[in-house]
Amino acid sequence: MAELPPKEKGFIDWYLAAVDAANLTDKRYPVKGMNVWTPYGFLARRNLDDVMIRAIEATGSQPVEFPALIPETEFQKEKEHIKGFDAQVYWVTRGGANPLDVNLVLRPTSETAMYPVFALWIRSHRDLPLNVYQIVNTFRYETKTTRPFLRVREIHFFEEHTCQVDEAAASERVRSNLGAFGVMAHDFALPFVAVRRPEWDKFAGAHFSIAFDIPVGEARTLQIGSVHHYRENFSGPYGIRYEAADGTTKLVHQTTFGLSERLIGAIVAVHGDDHGVVFPSAIAPYQVVVIPIAGAKSTAPPEAAAQAIVAQLRARGLRVHLDSGPDRPGAKYYHWEAAGVPLRLEVGPREAAAGQATAVDRLGQRSTVGPTGLDNAVVERLDAFDAALRSRAADRFHDAFKVAATLDELTNSTHVRVLPWCGEESCGHKIEIAIDGALLGVPEGGLPLPLPAPGRCIACGLDMPSQWALAGRPL
Ligand code: ZN
Repeated sequence: MAELPPKEKGFIDWYLAAVDAANLTDKRYPVKGMNVWTPYGFLARRNLDDVMIRAIEATGSQPVEFPALIPETEFQKEKEHIKGFDAQVYWVTRGGANPLDVNLVLRPTSETAMYPVFALWIRSHRDLPLNVYQIVNTFRYETKTTRPFLRVREIHFFEEHTCQVDEAAASERVRSNLGAFGVMAHDFALPFVAVRRPEWDKFAGAHFSIAFDIPVGEARTLQIGSVHHYRENFSGPYGIRYEAADGTTKLVHQTTFGLSERLIGAIVAVHGDDHGVVFPSAIAPYQVVVIPIAGAKSTAPPEAAAQAIVAQLRARGLRVHLDSGPDRPGAKYYHWEAAGVPLRLEVGPREAAAGQATAVDRLGQRSTVGPTGLDNAVVERLDAFDAALRSRAADRFHDAFKVAATLDELTNSTHVRVLPWCGEESCGHKIEIAIDGALLGVPEGGLPLPLPAPGRCIACGLDMPSQWALAGRPL
């Protein structure tokens, strides 16, 4: 097996090799950016979905599924939205040999599929709030270089769409979504910063957008999700009205919350190392791999003891894989490390006789589990592993940010920069040119570093109020 190129030397080369070594996807499908989910990758994705579903349903959201094809007539109703997506949509224009009466868009996102129907569902204030989500594939004609999970043309997409009685209720839903993402991010072990995007970078059609960004080395950042407040920007064109308690007719205020398979890319990018992927236990396709090992005197591997451990752990609800294959133990360790399995249990003849196993977690911690309470000990090892993974990620997260006092410091910056910004677009663009990236925006609810009040704007230096903002190079 080939070694991975070092992560420090070149992130993208390492990332592509790590995804390949873990066999999460097959990128040989003959449409660029449309990858095949392998069984192992699919299991990771399903665990990711389970985390998202649990967290969003805890906030009162219900599942729906809308069609993948959207009539052009509906797609064209919200003008900003169309401007934002026009260059990215795939069109369906024929049914067999017959041209369609109305061309169809393969959904790039589902506002324009859902909102004509929301207008039928919502009549009265008693129908509100409407909080629904779906997890579906969306399609965007991506023109930049595609990368597995990070930039694809067929996207595994989580999208929540909500309708609220007024702007304040919609703002409250945005806050609720930020909380729900915090719950999910704990399971992903991903520290993130929530950033209000500048006007010129908000979602097409939104009143404002809050994105979740993570640093992924040097000044690079990855947007791993977003929440948008639409106000009445869509409910107007789509006629989503309700009768208020006082008998007047009002437009709903809307929000959306979007996540995708990019989270798998983020988990690879943040936790992975030169040995490969590292999965937090909530997402790992297999949380534990059990490997029976033959003794020095070439006795047969203790298969029955290993199987008994697997059965005990599965009964405990853990996802466990038994590797009884013909490869040498060293090759198996290497393989499952590359695949990111949190915990390996080695069962040799000595351990088998004692009802024990040697546990080695993906960060290298060794211990002995069993004979009594072996399942409890394994759960504890997994918890300790997750805690260590979170702690390591948190340290790297804090080290990734650095204050900048002058525009010159942004050039070739090796950190995501925290800087005072007056809020003017012209200053924002100067910052973007200096860092050769983007002004990510102003953090919502907490900076990544403890900081004093911001001084004068880094770009114009004028004596007017400024805010701490973040700038980096989005992947
Ligand atoms: Zn300024």
